[in-house]
Amino acid sequence: MATAGKVIKCKAAVAWEPNKPLVIEEIEVAPPQAKEVRIKIVATAVCHTDLYHLFEGMHKDGFPAVLGHEGAGIVESVGPGVTEFQPGDKVIPLFISQCGECRFCKSPKTNQCVHAWDADVMSAPDSRFTCKGKKVLQFMGTSTFSEYTVMNQMAVAKIDPAAPLDKLISGRTWTGTLFGGFKGRDAVPQLVKAYLDKKLMVDEFITHNMTLNQVNDAIELMKHASGRS
Ligand code: ZN
Repeated sequence: MATAGKVIKCKAAVAWEPNKPLVIEEIEVAPPQAKEVRIKIVATAVCHTDLYHLFEGMHKDGFPAVLGHEGAGIVESVGPGVTEFQPGDKVIPLFISQCGECRFCKSPKTNQCVHAWDADVMSAPDSRFTCKGKKVLQFMGTSTFSEYTVMNQMAVAKIDPAAPLDKLISGRTWTGTLFGGFKGRDAVPQLVKAYLDKKLMVDEFITHNMTLNQVNDAIELMKHASGRS
């Protein structure tokens, strides 16, 4: 890939401060470091968790930030030590990692990997985003409101190459149980297969297809659809 190892300039919806509309900006996305993958985001959903963090000002790391945590994309390049992914792989970013080695990952009772909420999955100091010379924070390790993002490989699920990426399949219907209790890297590829086999309904939950430029409109639609103001 011509862009591998280089900074990518792309568009992202930046939350500069709480309770304000997102601003479409050109940001710089640094190359992936060790055990990280850089992903071209193809589709993203808006979720009430994004809204909560934006409008309640609860984003724990502060602002500016790029929100978005339900998306799908294609691996653009990988950092040193990444063997599981290669450019061109279709993937789903996970906001709960699955390292596969911690006691929670090894337990069938929980999907709460010990790395799920710590610096290993791209919290504040590890953001690869800058905009206008300022570091822009990543959100839930994912930041899918950007054309490109960088993630730790332990929070990325590789899916069937035949899967359509605009169906987010990380569905908001799961959020009530914190990612449905699923261990993401194991379960998401199986869910995608179930969708391809027509055993899982997804299309029925998609109400609008919009561009990144329309992200604020999408947030408004979601707010009104749920009766939340
Ligand atoms: Zn783990």
